[in-house]
Amino acid sequence: VPLAPLRAYHAPTTLRECLDVLRAESGRVLVLAGGQSALPLLKSRQLRPEVLLDLAGVEELRGVSTPADGEGLLELGSMMRYREILEAAPIGASWTALWDAATTLGDVQVRNRGTIGGNVAFADVAADIPPVAVCLSAELVVAGQDGERTVSAEEFFSGPRQTTLRPDELLAALRFPAPGARSGSGYIKYGITANGRPVIGVAASISLDEDGGCVDARVAVGGVLPAPRRARNAEQALIGTRLDVDVLAAAARAAADEVPTQDDLRASAAYRRQLIKVYGERALQRAAERARKGQVA
Ligand SMILES: Cc1cc2nc3c(=O)[nH]c(=O)nc-3n(C[C@H](O)[C@H](O)[C@H](O)COP(=O)(O)OP(=O)(O)OC[C@H]3O[C@@H](n4cnc5c(N)ncnc54)[C@H](O)[C@@H]3O)c2cc1C
Repeated sequence: VPLAPLRAYHAPTTLRECLDVLRAESGRVLVLAGGQSALPLLKSRQLRPEVLLDLAGVEELRGVSTPADGEGLLELGSMMRYREILEAAPIGASWTALWDAATTLGDVQVRNRGTIGGNVAFADVAADIPPVAVCLSAELVVAGQDGERTVSAEEFFSGPRQTTLRPDELLAALRFPAPGARSGSGYIKYGITANGRPVIGVAASISLDEDGGCVDARVAVGGVLPAPRRARNAEQALIGTRLDVDVLAAAARAAADEVPTQDDLRASAAYRRQLIKVYGERALQRAAERARKGQVA
């Protein structure tokens, strides 16, 4: 089915021009990033915007800055594609949960076109980047008419396909704090097919002290309603321990108990709880192993 007729198609080259289009056409615009979620909805006519705003030519949204010395922030432009994440060596070395998510996200075609910003801004329940962004304490840079604001990933997602982005704003970039020494993170999902959308996905990040004791932990679960959830009881079960197998299993059970799960076409609530237990434990093992080795993908 061809797209429904559009009144206008804009392909600007600067962020300022994008914001001008959003202001002039408030509420009538659909933003096009990698098109991997938007195009199917346009072609099936579930979405019928009057105006398309294509971000593909906006170089400002493509940048990546990584700290050379392992200190400071990793900043990724919202138009960074999953394939580019996999090619960025510092991400594979230090922001490993993000790297894990990009490796198993969709198929080759989706990874070549889809963008990190599109994944986050679309805020689908069955998406891999949102729980990773919450787990890794990402700050989202939002560009609006009056300049930039930042919002934590935890506060950004307000429901399925709902965020705190206003109609005249764009997601410009994502900032990830540098993991400290003796820190590790990992992400594992269960999808219906090998590279399928997550039924659930668990992201875990762990920091150790010099003696191997856990000093900090963050656990986030995706694939659940209304939005990715931190599993704070699981985090508390890890901190102050030496992360032996029983502790990891108990923390995964705590995550399964505390995160509300839903019945839908992909899985029952009870099955999701079981998946959180099993995949949660694997994600924690992965993060703990990496923390012990010092973050090697
Ligand atoms: C076959 C297939 C398999 C997939 N498998 C997975 C999977 O396993 N895991 C997964 O997480 N996803 C999966 N996806 C979805 C894919 O990751 C999409 O790329 C993603 O959901 C949207 O990113 P995009 O860049 O394609 O955005 P688009 O589809 O272009 O945009 C989606 C919407 O997001 C908003 N948007 C996009 N960018 C911005 C911005 N910078 N500022 C404000 N709003 C913006 C707009 O409202 C836009 O309409 C799959 C898709 C397909 C087709």
